Amino acid sequence: SMFGKARTCSVVTVPEHEPSEVNIVILGGRGSGKSALTVKFLTKRFISEYDPSLEDTYTSEEVVDQQPVLVKVMDTADQDGPMNCERYLSWANAFIVVYSINSRHSFELCLQYLQTLSIYFKGLQPEAPVILLGNKLDMERYRQVSKADGAALALRFGCQFFEVSACLDFLSVKHIFHEAVREVRRE
Ligand code: GDP
Ligand code: MG
Repeated sequence: SMFGKARTCSVVTVPEHEPSEVNIVILGGRGSGKSALTVKFLTKRFISEYDPSLEDTYTSEEVVDQQPVLVKVMDTADQDGPMNCERYLSWANAFIVVYSINSRHSFELCLQYLQTLSIYFKGLQPEAPVILLGNKLDMERYRQVSKADGAALALRFGCQFFEVSACLDFLSVKHIFHEAVREVRRE
């Protein structure tokens, strides 16, 4: 019978609150490695030269904790600090705010982004989760931002914090994007 047939199908039930699409916006100063991180996540490869003015949105089918999800990543290309934020503020489900550990200036720009986000989301539900990310961990010798400074800024704005390198292992880069998905699911 029809019912008998249905019983033989394997049905994957996705809980109502599990979003099937998660939009992630990558913010940060020019040169912090937003595009390198995005490309690494999408292709597992490090691309050393990437048009710094190119802003685009990419889609990737991911499986996070056994649950499929369509991840959309907007790799932004602001000139210097938060500008015309309207284009992504209402679109985003989560943000990754990037600096490079060898640039104090890029770290200071993160403060501007975090302030912009916290002002925008004040009183809004759900608040989009934010991950603060120190990139270029392979440049340890030229470090200008201590891990403690990164952690303190993240604590102040209630975000998760990681340090990573877009040119080293793929798994730690993937982990950050997957954490963003987990945070959205927790909302
Ligand atoms: P964006 O402007 O934030 O998109 O930065 P890009 O992704 O274009 O990277 C800017 C420069 O930093 C490029 O020359 C990249 O090759 C380099 N870069 C990006 N990520 C890393 C990293 O993790 N380590 C090192 N050493 N260089 C990186
Ligand atoms: Mg870029």
